[in-house]
Amino acid sequence: MKVLLVYPVFPETYWSFRHALSFVGKKAAFPPLGLLTVSAMLPQTWQRRLVDMNVEPLTMSDIEWADIVFLSAMIVQRESLDQVVKLCKKLGKLVAVGGPYVSTSSDLVPEADFVFVGEAETTLPEFIEDLKCDSPKRVYQAAVRPSLLSTPVPDFHLIDINQYSSMNVQFSRGCPFSCEFCDIIEIYGRVPRTKSSEQMLAEMEAMRVAGWRGTVFIVDDNFIGNKREVRKFLPDLIGWSERNNHPFSFLTEASVNLAEDDSLLEMMQTAGFHRVFLGIETPAAESLKEANKSQNTKRDLLESVRKIQSYGIEVMAGFIVGFDNDPEDIFERQINFIRESAIPLAMVGLLTALPDTQLWKRLEREGRLVHESSGNNTDCSLNFVPKMDRERLVEGYKAILRTIYSSEEFYQRSLDCLSRVRNDAAAVQRVSVIGVLSFFIKIVVRLGVRDRERLRFWKYLFRVVRLYPRSLGNGIALAAMGYHFRKRRRTFVGATNAKPDL
Ligand code: SF4
Repeated sequence: MKVLLVYPVFPETYWSFRHALSFVGKKAAFPPLGLLTVSAMLPQTWQRRLVDMNVEPLTMSDIEWADIVFLSAMIVQRESLDQVVKLCKKLGKLVAVGGPYVSTSSDLVPEADFVFVGEAETTLPEFIEDLKCDSPKRVYQAAVRPSLLSTPVPDFHLIDINQYSSMNVQFSRGCPFSCEFCDIIEIYGRVPRTKSSEQMLAEMEAMRVAGWRGTVFIVDDNFIGNKREVRKFLPDLIGWSERNNHPFSFLTEASVNLAEDDSLLEMMQTAGFHRVFLGIETPAAESLKEANKSQNTKRDLLESVRKIQSYGIEVMAGFIVGFDNDPEDIFERQINFIRESAIPLAMVGLLTALPDTQLWKRLEREGRLVHESSGNNTDCSLNFVPKMDRERLVEGYKAILRTIYSSEEFYQRSLDCLSRVRNDAAAVQRVSVIGVLSFFIKIVVRLGVRDRERLRFWKYLFRVVRLYPRSLGNGIALAAMGYHFRKRRRTFVGATNAKPDL
């Protein structure tokens, strides 16, 4: 059996970092980990190829080679998914689809021959057996959420690691919290399941042997969802890193209660975590309560961010506007919070109702759902009727983006961040000298010569060199990401740097 695994195009969004990737000569931020894992679960006798359409085009000869095409996608990739499915069917191929989008919207891919709902550890073995007996079903629905203890090491050898700015691994699935807008808990449940240290170290070793050096994103939606298991894993990771001369630095996502756990923060710092993404969502307590985000109402959020930063870990965070209880001044409050928290990489989105979430169900009951979510919460396409006047909400949202991604605000937040996070991004240190030089020259040419905000760039660079010389690498990396945000902002809200009308 010849299997072609295809990862559809991920459209350009704030989160794609496409403009920043161009500086380091990379095509995509992360490899398609789900498909690499699915590949490792297929019988060894089956031949396999992978095409990540974010890195290379899918060709007719790729499809013609295959007996069956496997696709996995998130909701934002659905347009590309639909196109590939149609093309493969036109060429007479069997098509199997799975992943997060299909798991919550399985009826939306009618042309596919096989649909996998839920996690592949449960559904794939049954499909393979049925295929051997020539009696496969159309829909495979996972009856239980599987243990991750038998999940194999992903087939990293199927990708060209040099095309990606980061590698990724997964330690856990599921989250114990119950945020109303979150689809993770609907797909993966509220009891976090984890891999063992042995499995994780085998994945680290596979990436190290493949030649990877740099950032590894631990893609868990909440890395500390099962703190007991994280406490067991981190000492093993620290030991492995020491034995192997610290080949990787780590980035992950976690809930805000990380801030109350000094021992965990200390271990993460020692293990080489240089960034963590937090779901802060909003400084408005009434909106957090509405979203059932109780973990954020129990603590001072600014203090929590500062505490994590004090461990040398830069905080990235997600923010949302559009809650029913958002006060009239929410836009100013969001801007002020982002400013005071010294979070350069602040991802602000409009609330969106994803399929099957508690939010989706409530809005449906209230008759406020308008259409399916695009999956992109920054494209101003609200899929429900908000309580605040729609126009005011969208204009206020755009005003936040115009302000926080202006070069003046972004460079200032980056400087504030560097003053708190005294720990250069290890990822930058671990690439070759030629790589660093080429990155530096590209940045200087783009931001210091061609960009109309070049004076601000030079002022920023001068202050980084004078005040935080050891963080120069991280300072430049932040400037590259700020450039990406400015480019994206221009697409959605125009180029002006004028102060917003709030
Ligand atoms: S903490 Fe994050 S992953 Fe957990 S339920 Fe809330 S939004 Fe979802």
